[in-house]
Amino acid sequence: MKHDETRRLSDEYEVSNILGRGGFSVVRKGTKKSSSEKIHVAIKTLRRVGTSSNPFGTPRTKVGGGDGGGEKSIAASIMGFTTLRQVSVSDALLTNEILVMRKIVENVSPHPNVIDLYDVYEDSNGVHLVLELCSGGELFDRIVAQDRYSETEAAAVVRQIAAGLEAIHKVNIIHRDLKPENCLFLDVRKDSPLKIMDFGLSSVEEFTDPVVGLFGSIDYVSPEALSQGKITTKSDMWSLGVILYILLSGYPPFIAQTNRQKQQMIMNGNFSFYEKTWKGITQAAKQLISSLLSVDPSRRPSAQELLNHPWVRGDIAKDDQMDPEIVSRLQTFNARRKLRVAAIASVWSTTMFLRTKKLKSLIGSYDLKEEEIENLRIHFKKICANGDNATLSEFEE
Ligand code: ATP
Repeated sequence: MKHDETRRLSDEYEVSNILGRGGFSVVRKGTKKSSSEKIHVAIKTLRRVGTSSNPFGTPRTKVGGGDGGGEKSIAASIMGFTTLRQVSVSDALLTNEILVMRKIVENVSPHPNVIDLYDVYEDSNGVHLVLELCSGGELFDRIVAQDRYSETEAAAVVRQIAAGLEAIHKVNIIHRDLKPENCLFLDVRKDSPLKIMDFGLSSVEEFTDPVVGLFGSIDYVSPEALSQGKITTKSDMWSLGVILYILLSGYPPFIAQTNRQKQQMIMNGNFSFYEKTWKGITQAAKQLISSLLSVDPSRRPSAQELLNHPWVRGDIAKDDQMDPEIVSRLQTFNARRKLRVAAIASVWSTTMFLRTKKLKSLIGSYDLKEEEIENLRIHFKKICANGDNATLSEFEE
């Protein structure tokens, strides 16, 4: 996977329909040209913020080593074997995913539960990551669509996520943004592997540096991340605990009117198992959730420990069909979540890439709740902390 700046994506891949969009990216389907059998991939294009070099003035962020010198292309710096030099902050944000993916390629791939990276290209549109194509849909989409759903299926999901986490944690990668939309099935087969993806906000411990702050949507964020403490692999275990809580009840463990209240609840580990919803769920599953949602990270099981847990292994998970109420709540939760993700991604990308002055009216037109606006504020603060003060004043106006 050596980077060569003369190679062009369009020489090697036929790029077709859009598979999805993220805050900083657009993902399209691609087909390899020079192959007799049709090899399909996902091409994630990460766009630079603003101009191609450094929209925020003097480079302030140093990622990795290097002795200064001329700026290099991001992909060349990372995928090639040259030392990464100083990069602008916006480049650093963009760079992070490639750094993490490189570490995955070198140390983890191929793994049934971690997305694979095949290649990287760079051109004036940004950096293109050629990724393993996941055509089986998002985790919750499939669960709400299937006829059969019991603790056994939920345990299988946890097992796969835990296996992926165990592999990345072993090489000191923390995902930091684990949530249902970042878990995709590889294909449509019933027994398709579930893949963890979107390492855009992840960190490789030795590179953990300036682009830290508040990452991810607050629902899945650990108490230590919210209180700005040290984030460890156990922070991902918290997020998995939240996913498991939702899988078995259809609603998230921390529900509040405002983000601030929710933050408080998370930091105090203030959640409960409402008898009406949880009465049919095994004690072992509830105990497991309680241990994953321990405020003290050291009390949470590691991914490896989780893989040996009898409920996760499927030995004691109940095989009875789940209460239809739970599935229907999960359906509602999933539909709302998708709508919000789309709205936020749209506001976010419009703002960042067109630098609109009409952020407030955009937010208004999406009818976002206070919580979502707060999430946007956090994202803005993160960017602004890295030098883009103009954007914050637009937001605060
Ligand atoms: P975010 O704003 O959540 O950080 P992002 O910019 O990092 O998003 P992704 O979440 O990686 O982008 O991708 C955006 C969407 O593209 C996903 O929700 C998914 O629908 C689709 N997608 C991403 N990678 C793949 C893949 N390998 N195969 C199929 N679809 C994909």
